[in-house]
Amino acid sequence: MAKQSHLHCSFCGRGRDEVKILIAGQEGHICEDCVEHAQDIISQELHGSSAKQNQFSISNNSKLTVRKPKEIKKFLDDYVIGQDDAKKVLAVAVYNHYKRIMQKQQQNDVEIEKSNIIMVGETGTGKTLLAKSIARMLNVPFAIVDATVFTEAGYVGEDVESMLTRLLQNCDYDVAAAERGIVYVDELDKIARKNDNPSITRDVSGEGVQQGLLKMLEGTEVLVPPQGGRKHPEQKMIKVDTKNILFICGGAFDGVDKIIARRINTNAIGFNVNKEEQEMQRKNLLQFVNAQDLKSFGLIPELLGRLPVVTHLNPLDAETLRNILTEPKNSLIKQFTKLFEMEDIKLIIDEEALNFMVNKALEYKLGARGLRSICESILTDAMFELPGTDQSELHITEEYAQNKFNKSKMNILKVA
Ligand code: ADP
Repeated sequence: MAKQSHLHCSFCGRGRDEVKILIAGQEGHICEDCVEHAQDIISQELHGSSAKQNQFSISNNSKLTVRKPKEIKKFLDDYVIGQDDAKKVLAVAVYNHYKRIMQKQQQNDVEIEKSNIIMVGETGTGKTLLAKSIARMLNVPFAIVDATVFTEAGYVGEDVESMLTRLLQNCDYDVAAAERGIVYVDELDKIARKNDNPSITRDVSGEGVQQGLLKMLEGTEVLVPPQGGRKHPEQKMIKVDTKNILFICGGAFDGVDKIIARRINTNAIGFNVNKEEQEMQRKNLLQFVNAQDLKSFGLIPELLGRLPVVTHLNPLDAETLRNILTEPKNSLIKQFTKLFEMEDIKLIIDEEALNFMVNKALEYKLGARGLRSICESILTDAMFELPGTDQSELHITEEYAQNKFNKSKMNILKVA
């Protein structure tokens, strides 16, 4: 018995009576907290960056180390093709955001404001993917919410607080972790008010929701219903402080290009570049988007003030789509190759077949999102037939791709 009382964790030094579990090893012991810390270190080593001193670790008590913006961009390059402007802006904003959190921890005087972000870009250009990849890199809780489901408090629909419910659910209700998480608010453009004048009548789904978001984006303590839905008096609430939650908003903002064109007077763009480049700039007016344009689109100035970083995503051209097929770390073709490899089948896809897929995605106006369905339509038959046979290779030629595609249901999706 006397020997028992000297038992302690060989890592943190706490005694038997200070911990719940003490696991014995050959020459020492380890407590449950140190096991958890060790687990964190292992998963960071195996799944995070290889550069030890530059890693993020944002769990409850652990120290926060910020990756440099260049490294953040490099990480994003592994998952998202192109979109260099957005990556750069996001990298800096995220870097500053987490520097800001660390600065608070050091009780410094100068208060750095939050750098919540708006991404403007056509649907399917990688906005969600960028936000998701950032959360993956940081290893922080992440939630995707759709702005269109929210209505002003008291009306039918969801309260804006419910976005925090999703964040909490995604980290097993670890409030401290959620308070440093990232929320991606999709379709922000859909809550724009319908014209440029402040509404006299109530605008339940547009301006009202924007108003509802203000406090949350800036940082406030919010009582969150743990299971979502409407608040009701008997429900137990969880208090979440949003001051260190990073909000990234995205939207297609259809028609904002006309607003931009009007503002900058298209003739004036690129007066010292050649014709081709001028044409390109005109095609991608989104690159010039700023808060003023979004205000004209229908976002209220107070909301824009709380989303100070504005960036854009480029439309995807054939070359980008082609790269999306094969370049990202978990690209579609890599995924299908792996699936066949697990059946001991070598998948070979001709360059012409890849170009065929890209052309179909462009022709059907499906963007990157359509690439998956196109791949599926071409490969499903083989994925059905081949397992269990002794075929060891599948060669996809342009003709094979065309054949399978024409027989698939995708054909009827064609838009005029
Ligand atoms: P958005 O949020 O802009 O509507 P997503 O990020 O959801 O678009 O993109 C849809 C899908 O298309 C993603 O899952 C991804 O596979 C693919 N995708 C889109 N853009 C890119 C890109 N730039 N690089 C790699 N994949 C992309």
